[in-house]
Amino acid sequence: MKLDILAFGAHPDDVELGCGATIAKEVSLGKKVGIVDLTRGELGTRGSAAVRELEAAKSATILGVSVRENMGFADGFFINDKNHQLEIIKMIRKYQPEIVLCNAVDDRHIDHPKGSSLVSDACFLSGLLKIETEIGGEYKKNGDQNKCIITSNGKILNLIL
Ligand SMILES: [Zn+2]
Repeated sequence: MKLDILAFGAHPDDVELGCGATIAKEVSLGKKVGIVDLTRGELGTRGSAAVRELEAAKSATILGVSVRENMGFADGFFINDKNHQLEIIKMIRKYQPEIVLCNAVDDRHIDHPKGSSLVSDACFLSGLLKIETEIGGEYKKNGDQNKCIITSNGKILNLIL
């Protein structure tokens, strides 16, 4: 499924807090939007991963997004390395978004800038022909590289025209 916009957040609720209104507006204009949460938010002080999962599903329905997935990375401890980048590359190639949204590059919670760097690096790498990924049993060498990466504080990291 091709999406117009793919929004990544380190934790379930980051996307809603960072760009929920933008997503609602774009969906109302007919755009296909997806959300990918990097972790289940299991280290959150309030609530639990199970509650967050229910909230994320309800939020996805309210926002009208086409898909919402969770990478299941370790909350607080995921890193920006080859293995994590390859998993994000698969998501980008699977949905071929024109625009990718991600966390702010600077923020108090360590997962937010880490997630931003991880997604930004994976966006770049997703366009490289020699990085091969398998998606749903289908072997893919290259996806359509996204054109724009925007962080939740509005910084444009990469614009490819
Ligand atoms: Zn967060």
